[in-house]
Amino acid sequence: MANGILVFGEIRGGELKAISKEIVTAANGLSESGGGPVSLALIGEGADAALSAARALPVAKVWVVKHPLLSSYSSQAYAAALQSVIATSGARIVLFGATAMGRDLSARAAARCDASLFPDCTELSLASGALRVKRPVYSGKVYAELESKADVQMASIRPNVYPAAAGTGAAEVGEVPVEIEESMLRGRVREIVRTAGGKKDLTEAEIIVSGGRSLKGAENFAILDDLARAMGATVGASRAAVDAGYAPHAMQVGQTGKVVNPKLYIAVGISGAIQHLVGMRTSKVIVALNKDENAPIFQKADYGIVGDLFEVVPKLTEEFKKLLGT
Ligand SMILES: Cc1cc2nc3c(=O)[nH]c(=O)nc-3n(C[C@H](O)[C@H](O)[C@H](O)COP(=O)(O)OP(=O)(O)OC[C@H]3O[C@@H](n4cnc5c(N)ncnc54)[C@H](O)[C@@H]3O)c2cc1C
Repeated sequence: MANGILVFGEIRGGELKAISKEIVTAANGLSESGGGPVSLALIGEGADAALSAARALPVAKVWVVKHPLLSSYSSQAYAAALQSVIATSGARIVLFGATAMGRDLSARAAARCDASLFPDCTELSLASGALRVKRPVYSGKVYAELESKADVQMASIRPNVYPAAAGTGAAEVGEVPVEIEESMLRGRVREIVRTAGGKKDLTEAEIIVSGGRSLKGAENFAILDDLARAMGATVGASRAAVDAGYAPHAMQVGQTGKVVNPKLYIAVGISGAIQHLVGMRTSKVIVALNKDENAPIFQKADYGIVGDLFEVVPKLTEEFKKLLGT
């Protein structure tokens, strides 16, 4: 059934995001199982800036869509643009990152193209030419395996599941025309306010160091910032820390915060309540630091350190600085 896989190339600040390179790896896996050629769609203002990085990837073609009304993200306009690329490329499988933009756009695009959509997947394969996915359900307690028989099949994939594709290729480039009218744009991004510079968003971070209520104050999060800087990590927090005003809600991991999927998650002074676990239990390696050896977090951790965070964290920071020269 499948005759081509299209990857939505997400651009931020003129750069192709790492998640899109990870999805190219997933797409090539499907291609090797008979899914057809892999192509990548670049939409909007940053397309020119991201083009050379996109062409270098192991894809057969890069489709570019430009239009004055695509200058800032709008789900309606981007979905229209993507629909044009799908029609031109003949792709039957369309893949997105499970990021804020990927989730928003995939839902709109699936409705527009009458496609099936599996959000938040952690594994993709082909079964008799049709897309088969694995995705966590019931807050990650079980995995569901689902298969689509729709003509066009879409899925979004969690960050840090597949390794990022690299290459020095020179994929063909094709431009796709699109008709967009002002009246189509019912919602549009007016302004982007960036949070503290340079740090990776929690949902895309490869390493996360999270702190709990035990930090006892916003100022003490500085010791986690130091550790994170030494390791190249992003700092997260439990809800108890957020509710106490030690950290902003954007840093909250868990049921009412963000669901993260890093390669390494370090829980510092976090008890391991179920509402926290549902946000980080799919992390590849979990390290817990807690002064209570019976804290529930140790049941989920791959490695545990029993100790006082105010003593252990600065020592860890020193060691990482020595080891990594940071
Ligand atoms: C509807 C609902 C939604 C929720 N959503 C979320 C959510 O999204 N995210 C979330 O995190 N929680 C959420 N919660 C709250 C959750 O139930 C817990 O209350 C919360 O996760 C506890 O945070 P904590 O582990 O930081 O604090 P605590 O439970 O107070 O644990 C602190 C831990 O730190 C350890 N400790 C103390 N001092 C030190 C020290 N000096 N060194 C080392 N260890 C130390 C203690 O032994 C303890 O294990 C939700 C709750 C509800 C009801």
